Amino acid sequence: MTRTIIEPNYVGGEAITKLCAHVGNRHSGRLVTLVADSNTYAAAGEAVHTALRDAGISTHLIALRAKDLHADESSLARVLTSSPLEDSVFLAVGSGTITDITRYISFRLGVPFIAFPTASSVDGFASGGCPLVIDGIKRTYYARPPEAIFADSGVLAAAPPELTAAGLGDLLGKTTAIADWRLGAQIRGEPFDEEIAARVTAAVNRCMPVIDSISRRDPAGLRTLFDSLTETGLCMIDFGDSQPASGAEHHVSHVWEMIALQKGAHAALHGIQVGIATEFVAGIYETIRSLDVADVRKLLRKRLPLSRDTQEREIRTFFGPLAESVVSGHREFLDLTEEQQLSIADRVIEYWPDIQVIAASVPPPESIKRSLEMVGAPTGPGVPGMPERDVEAGTRGGHYLRSRFTAAKLAHMLGIQGA
Ligand SMILES: [Zn+2]
Repeated sequence: MTRTIIEPNYVGGEAITKLCAHVGNRHSGRLVTLVADSNTYAAAGEAVHTALRDAGISTHLIALRAKDLHADESSLARVLTSSPLEDSVFLAVGSGTITDITRYISFRLGVPFIAFPTASSVDGFASGGCPLVIDGIKRTYYARPPEAIFADSGVLAAAPPELTAAGLGDLLGKTTAIADWRLGAQIRGEPFDEEIAARVTAAVNRCMPVIDSISRRDPAGLRTLFDSLTETGLCMIDFGDSQPASGAEHHVSHVWEMIALQKGAHAALHGIQVGIATEFVAGIYETIRSLDVADVRKLLRKRLPLSRDTQEREIRTFFGPLAESVVSGHREFLDLTEEQQLSIADRVIEYWPDIQVIAASVPPPESIKRSLEMVGAPTGPGVPGMPERDVEAGTRGGHYLRSRFTAAKLAHMLGIQGA
């Protein structure tokens, strides 16, 4: 298996010096387009900007508005129209959102980009895929990983605690993502890679013992969190898709973000939403653990086959004006015939002991809740600032967003967990 290495991938006290040396060596004479928002410019961008200019490197600044910044059409257009006509290297100084916007524009312009993260807030700094909200739907678009990453440990430690809490939420999501990935492979033969799954699990396990140190913003703990998130981003690149780091918990959180964006409401940070959604999906796995094969047979017999009309009605209820896009993106499941649904049900029954082994790998929801509480992150079942009806659209409708067999899809087939 090819293993992606981003070099340099530096976290420490001399990030700005190392960045200037890297640009000077690799991109001598080239313009640097620095993308930041007002918060991240104050946190690190200004110091980076000054240091680059002091090193004789010419720069072009694109400053975005920090308030309700999303990786959507308007931000992409903003960066594109503000981009220089001459050849340049893009430098993202900021959070996951700024990094994703910069990643996508630089990829489409065919120029390299460098990440200078200002918080351990997401797994996306090292990632190759680019989650964008286009036409109201959040999807991962093909892009490229950064050629180098420079993170200043002082800047990471000074980041708002909510951003670090979000980073831990995104990382905890890997516990259910890996289980969902195994489930899809077992029941529908979806592609799977044991070595990559083991790398993701190891990254999560490195972080669990240091949550206390992360909550104290101890540099060693923050570094472990940052490195673990980076590793899961690299795992997605090596696998070539997002399954190693994104399962039902991400689909649920994507629905919440899409609804908030559509209503013009403030959305909680990605990792904060993922943390809450992980608690929910861990709850599904807990219910799965409590069912024996006779229960499952009974539930499936009662519930299946699901009619296309019923499912489309649910999609319209949960997604409103976005329903048509969701229906067309979910054809693979909506088009399943009665026989095909029943054959999936047969596999669920046949492999129930294996599903139990997968479910046993997921921590109980109380343990996810405790970890989130340790870093001061909000916990479920509600989502801060979101009406219950919209929260339910995510927990009950999230499985319609992707064509993957996850715990949420299984819960829907079984008619459990309010599905
Ligand atoms: Zn994520």
